[in-house]
Amino acid sequence: MKVRGRFGRFGGRYVPETLVEALDELERSYEELRDDSSFRSELERLLRDYAGRPTPLYFASNLTKLLGGAKVYLKREDLLHGGAHKINNALGQALLARRMGKRRVIAETGAGQHGVATAMACAVLGLKCTVYMGELDVERQSANVKRMRLLGAEVVPVRSGTRTLKDAINEAIRDWVTNVETTYYLLGSCVGPHPYPTIVRDFQSVIGRECRCQALEAEGRLPDWVVACVGGGSNAIGIFHPFLEDPVKLVGVEAGGRGEGIGEHAASLCRGTEGVLHGAYTYVIQDEDGQVGETWSVAPGLDYPGVGPEHAYLKETGRVEYVAVDDASALRAYLTLARTEGILPALEPAHALAHAIELAPTLPKDEVVVVNLSGRGDKDLDTVLRWLELEGAG
Ligand SMILES: *Cc1c(COP(=O)(O)O)cnc(C)c1O
Repeated sequence: MKVRGRFGRFGGRYVPETLVEALDELERSYEELRDDSSFRSELERLLRDYAGRPTPLYFASNLTKLLGGAKVYLKREDLLHGGAHKINNALGQALLARRMGKRRVIAETGAGQHGVATAMACAVLGLKCTVYMGELDVERQSANVKRMRLLGAEVVPVRSGTRTLKDAINEAIRDWVTNVETTYYLLGSCVGPHPYPTIVRDFQSVIGRECRCQALEAEGRLPDWVVACVGGGSNAIGIFHPFLEDPVKLVGVEAGGRGEGIGEHAASLCRGTEGVLHGAYTYVIQDEDGQVGETWSVAPGLDYPGVGPEHAYLKETGRVEYVAVDDASALRAYLTLARTEGILPALEPAHALAHAIELAPTLPKDEVVVVNLSGRGDKDLDTVLRWLELEGAG
């Protein structure tokens, strides 16, 4: 049974009445534009000439030799403008906003990476940009706040509640309800009410489409495994989606953090339970009363108490396997890639890499493992250096 906006039992649209009209308008516009040739060619041009697509599929020969098993390839989303896959979605939705006649874009951001990508996309497309950010996050992520402001975005610190992402989301929704005529709400991952999970997945699927062609070219066949980290799940669904009908094993890697208890990890699929978060029915980290739990990950982009509903569905059907990798393993993987390949990965995909580092030695040498390297690691230098000092390693 295929119900609109559902992935099996998951997804849907659990929102106040005031948002239904805006979501309907978005759905109608997207349905019209997704196959419009001028929309598609404009987005393709931006992705190519502005963002830097296609990104390479790099054979990590040193890492492969070190591990002594399957061949490891890296899909180099870290080489994109802005340093991560988030620009794929930001450009797609900003272009959609402009085509819908909305001159103003709002977004919310936690670690600031999505805010920066949105500010870039709005600058290049001539849109006004307002980014809501919890006051605590504004303090913790000051470099990204500076970037957003230099890119012409207005950053609004949110002082209510815990002064973090969930308060910023509330504020962004309040703004959207008030200004829906002129304003587009640009969501940063494949989460939220229908149609966002589908829109974000479609814009990120360029990763998997390229990867498919590149693997066929390099190896004459599809990869055996594709591994990606899962925060909200957009880079993972982007690389997985074009392989869903193929005999390719897909693994999503969540943030195992520093323990199993609530507040110590961000592994919604592996350790959460079913519930509604931000307008969708999915897996959520919550207590027995349904209160959303605190989360922790060394990777700021994975630190989210929910996950996109399509991943919940792919877990239930068993098509994708989800595992959790802890902070320490991700940090070790960061160093391993730095030393073997001369690449500093973001701590988010370092989780996926850590899983591949475990997996590859157990596989025959003719198998192929692709890791989605969703972003670069410069933003994590201080975190990694502090950890090295504590460990006395390096
Ligand atoms: C934001 C971010 C993520 C997590 O978001 P997804 O929607 O799960 O992809 C992963 N990697 C990087 C580099 C990020 O910036």
